[in-house]
Amino acid sequence: MNETRKLFVKSFGCQMNVYDSQRMADNLAPEGYVETATADDADLVILNTCHIREKAAEKVYSELGRIRVMKEAAAVEGRRLVIAVAGCVAQAEGGEIMRRAPAVDLVFGPQSYHRLPDLLARAERGEKPVDTEFPADDKFNHLAAPSRAALRRRGVTGFVTVQEGCDKFCSFCVVPYTRGAESSRPVRQVLAEIERLADAGVREVTLIGQNVNAYHGEGFDGRPWSLARLLAHAARISGIERLRYTTSHPGDMTDDLIAAHRDLGALMPQLHLPVQSGSDRVLAAMNRRHHRADYIDVVARLRHARPDLALSSDFIVGFPGETEADFAATLDLVGEIGYASAFSFNYSARPGTPGAELPDQIEDKVKSERLQRLQREIDRSQAAFNRRSLGETFDVLFERPGRHDGQIVGRSPYLQPLQVNAPQSLIGEIAAVTVTEISSNSLFGVLAPAPARQPALLGAEA
Ligand code: SAM
Ligand code: SF4
Repeated sequence: MNETRKLFVKSFGCQMNVYDSQRMADNLAPEGYVETATADDADLVILNTCHIREKAAEKVYSELGRIRVMKEAAAVEGRRLVIAVAGCVAQAEGGEIMRRAPAVDLVFGPQSYHRLPDLLARAERGEKPVDTEFPADDKFNHLAAPSRAALRRRGVTGFVTVQEGCDKFCSFCVVPYTRGAESSRPVRQVLAEIERLADAGVREVTLIGQNVNAYHGEGFDGRPWSLARLLAHAARISGIERLRYTTSHPGDMTDDLIAAHRDLGALMPQLHLPVQSGSDRVLAAMNRRHHRADYIDVVARLRHARPDLALSSDFIVGFPGETEADFAATLDLVGEIGYASAFSFNYSARPGTPGAELPDQIEDKVKSERLQRLQREIDRSQAAFNRRSLGETFDVLFERPGRHDGQIVGRSPYLQPLQVNAPQSLIGEIAAVTVTEISSNSLFGVLAPAPARQPALLGAEA
């Protein structure tokens, strides 16, 4: 039996990093590592980093400054604190991280974390390993499966990575460089992981990937299966009541995936479909490979298949060369589509991407002013969507205790969080809730006496 050591993993960025962090912890459990909630008493701290925007990457260095102080304090007490940097900053900067932050003991990229036990052994011997390779063998074949107890602690909703990397090369984006070429996990492997989650009480699974709807994993017949086909099989797993997937590229919304939104009861009526900009000129400069009209058309087809579909998106403002007219086209698109929610970001020039080399970089002041205007438009859109929920009843999956005593929080089929006064014993259950109050985009509800009707009520106004 290995001696018990404490592990603290901090995730930055997207859901894929949250998932990777969990798998790192799973892989270290057989080595005797148990997770702890803070870095203070940890023997090993892993920062699982994000490189998507400059601010995200810089956060890592300020965090490393704080942890270096803890490492020094631990040394005074005669303890060794090992610091590891993982994820996309690790992939992009490699050994440079150790030059900037010498307290770091090891650096490894998103494709190398199955080799963590070996990397740690080397770090303990005083080496400073850096592993940012894209190995030919699939890391998922080497990762230890999580224990049932670990899965139960993580709650009633779970993520499963089904696809990694990206071949689209949008001109602003580091993902194709940090996560590598697009690859899909085999159907059998994905379904086995979902079965394990279901067995541990998970009711809702979100299939994740940088470009998840490009999924083409090997199926039972040895041929590539589409995401729609994978979802159909996942929906048959006993205990799995709800399915979602994220993040999708508009160009990969195939007919079978659109039809799945009509035919698959477990597939929730909600979709994150980033458009980035409403201007064709900017979309072309971004190398998004679709026009504004294509996006509008795909949304129309989705809403034809599933009229109550709640949509969300990502937007980038201030891409090089973006004029006021281009930006107005983005504002206009938000109004035209009608989003349930959306993320919006100032463009951040990332070293090594084509966007960073473009002339006409936009001043920060202009970007920030446009971002504020866009966020006001998104808020209006979200408020309109939420208002349509008032007085409606739908099924809510309760996930955790609420902020106040006696409250629990769950999510509607449209991914809206809902606070309800109800017993904690309902956590993990799906129950009908009537929305009674909306306050600055927070929804409150009461348990409904009657069963919820199928969610088909938030008919799109567009
Ligand atoms: N694959 C998804 C897609 O096609 O839209 C996006 C994945 S990316 C990890 C998440 C979001 O980060 C993007 O949708 C984009 O809005 C934002 N993002 C990516 N690079 C950015 C940059 N250089 N500056 C600002 N935002 C960026
Ligand atoms: Fe990045 Fe998404 Fe474009 Fe791929 S499709 S390059 S992940 S923004």
